[in-house]
Amino acid sequence: MKKVITIVGARPQFIKAAAVSRAFRSNELFDERILHTGQHFDSNMSDVFFDELDIPRPHFHLGIGGGGHGQNTGRMLEAIETVLVSERPDWVLVYGDTDSTLAGALAAVKLHIPLAHVEAGLRSFNKRMPEEINRRLTDHASDLLLAPNAAALKTLASEGISGRHVVNVGDVMYDAALIFGEKAEAKSNILNILSLRPQQYILATVHRQDNTDTPERLRNIFSGFAAAPLPVVLPLHPRTRQRINSFDIAIPGNVKVVDPLGYLDMVMLEKNAALVATDSGGVQKEAYFHRVPCLTLRDETEWTELVELGWNTLASPSRSDLASVFAASYTPGVTGAMPYGNGAAAEAILHELACYS
Ligand code: UDP
Repeated sequence: MKKVITIVGARPQFIKAAAVSRAFRSNELFDERILHTGQHFDSNMSDVFFDELDIPRPHFHLGIGGGGHGQNTGRMLEAIETVLVSERPDWVLVYGDTDSTLAGALAAVKLHIPLAHVEAGLRSFNKRMPEEINRRLTDHASDLLLAPNAAALKTLASEGISGRHVVNVGDVMYDAALIFGEKAEAKSNILNILSLRPQQYILATVHRQDNTDTPERLRNIFSGFAAAPLPVVLPLHPRTRQRINSFDIAIPGNVKVVDPLGYLDMVMLEKNAALVATDSGGVQKEAYFHRVPCLTLRDETEWTELVELGWNTLASPSRSDLASVFAASYTPGVTGAMPYGNGAAAEAILHELACYS
């Protein structure tokens, strides 16, 4: 049996790990133990996902969150190392691009424990993003690079990373969308709760540091929302809420602010939205999985194929005329493309972990 320590800490990682953890539990070759760093600690940013998505309770909970990038990463590195020294797993599995990802990667490689990175090869080419630093360093430290799409393989090759340990397994978020999408339809009552009608609202999320911490960009985003032809539903990330208050930004009348939602409610809102407007990586893709047009509130995206397919439009929050972007209408793009695999990424990941030598 191979022992795997999965390291998670932030909302998108719980969702990705949910799909893979499910596969681990039905495969007798593996013994998975989940380590939660504590990076996201509010119950609506963490516990709700463990409950709704049937993720086993973490074996290890470090309770490290709330600090700056350096402080968090440093404290996590130290605490993860202690766990890995006593557990001596066959694999450390990290996801995405957060401080938890980087801390887990550094702890593993320094102890010569094989390291696998899910969502390898994504790049924004914007080094102002903490996520860009985390993902680049993690890729360059990893033994097994599990890319979500063909473009990521090319990017890795251009950085000198290629060979049989670099594999396009497909996107685990697509697995999650398929596994939990039906459950969302059955269980979520969010449209009624928020008095929303299908196709009659825009779903928005904002949490990228460059947007939340630059008053000008955050103000432009809210001016854009104010010009939208439909109500805007905004599940608000705690950091964004804090910045809106400190920058004294007024919430436009057509914006309905709600607390962060569980995944099932979020999926339900995504499926029924007329338009998604977001700076989230995951939400851009989910909009595509449900074939809803997406405005990306950033200067660039890691998911460039969505722009090429006509489902995603970049709308830089540095533009003071963002209102015109919101006022425009958006038509569906190319429908049949499958750039993220067939929803079996979790199985492909287990296969690679089992066969690696
Ligand atoms: N999400 C959620 N509730 C919310 C906002 C987002 O469940 O209120 C989900 C969303 O559906 C997606 C993931 O969280 O699966 C994306 O996480 P986030 O936007 O925090 O991170 P990113 O993808 O940008 O790394």
